[in-house]
Amino acid sequence: MNRHQDADQHDYSFASDNTSGVCPEALAALCAANEGCVPSYGNDDYTRKACDLIRGIFEKPDAEVFFVFNGTSSNSLALASLCQSYHSVICHEAAHVETDECGAPEFFSNGTKLLVSQGNDGKLQPEAVERLITRRNYIHFPKPRVLSLTQSTEWGTVYTIEELRALTFVAKRHGLAVHMDGARFSNAAAALQDSCGASPADITWRSGIDVLCFGGTKNGMMTTEAVVFFNPQLAREFDFRCKQAGQLASKMRLHGAQWVGMLESGAWLRHAAHANAMNRRLAAGLRAIPGVGLQVAPEVNACFAEFPKATADALLKKGWHFYSFIGASGYRLMSSWATRPETIYRFLADLRAHMPS
Ligand SMILES: *Cc1c(COP(=O)(O)O)cnc(C)c1O
Repeated sequence: MNRHQDADQHDYSFASDNTSGVCPEALAALCAANEGCVPSYGNDDYTRKACDLIRGIFEKPDAEVFFVFNGTSSNSLALASLCQSYHSVICHEAAHVETDECGAPEFFSNGTKLLVSQGNDGKLQPEAVERLITRRNYIHFPKPRVLSLTQSTEWGTVYTIEELRALTFVAKRHGLAVHMDGARFSNAAAALQDSCGASPADITWRSGIDVLCFGGTKNGMMTTEAVVFFNPQLAREFDFRCKQAGQLASKMRLHGAQWVGMLESGAWLRHAAHANAMNRRLAAGLRAIPGVGLQVAPEVNACFAEFPKATADALLKKGWHFYSFIGASGYRLMSSWATRPETIYRFLADLRAHMPS
């Protein structure tokens, strides 16, 4: 088989939710906003409208909103704005800020230390967080200043409102601000709306979140994330921080327009709900195959599946891509706005065919 035939067979459908392209709503918004000349650097109507829509969705008229290009910069700059160099940030040991941002949170904050805590299924536990906050409250240790939560988590789970409140209560009691890494916030918002009718406000500022990094990219937009400060005091001079970090887009309208297109049409929640539903379908199919297990009950758009390594190798050889960073036999499968049922059935059929008999 030559290289080209081989390349044609690669399928990245389940490798991550950022292997898909730009969704139709965001693409149409980009094309529409591409006409004519408007002010640069965010002084345009698209950007103003996007900020107003975000304030509306979160029922927080005084929230401060900024757009940056990716999740690493949104997290790092948000954390840097909350911290001095002698502070620390408490996060889960699997948190993206700890494992996948190349030290950017420490870099942009001039040395703020990340302190990691454990917890099942990617979730922090209030007691463990409190222990970490109070363990060394003396001059020789970086002072805990921020609690960082990922919603939905790196393990495809969702903090309930009660869990969020228990964690932010501990943080506030010790004077910490709370940051939420919401690269997949939309998936969590769709899941919590479904399970308990919670609104975006309920699961953020009404539950003690001060700053949300609201992901656009993994939900179908092209390179845009919103940093939403529910506590406007914390946003002081954040515009300068974005500019210095190379995150101030001169054609900002193309950020803003996508958010307008996604939020006005409701596509942000629709696509997230679709990804979650596709993942449920995949999970049901996986559970129906004897010998295949799930490591965590999936709540959003990720399955952490267990099957024999020989089966995984056969699937990889067939061209399926997925990550296997979860222990010896765990494989992560992600769904996105673009996932189609046919692809799920094709994957499940291949998996079934390669299970040992
Ligand atoms: C993808 C992701 C990000 C953002 O990563 P970038 O590649 O910098 O856009 C942040 N947090 C979590 C939990 C993620 O999954």
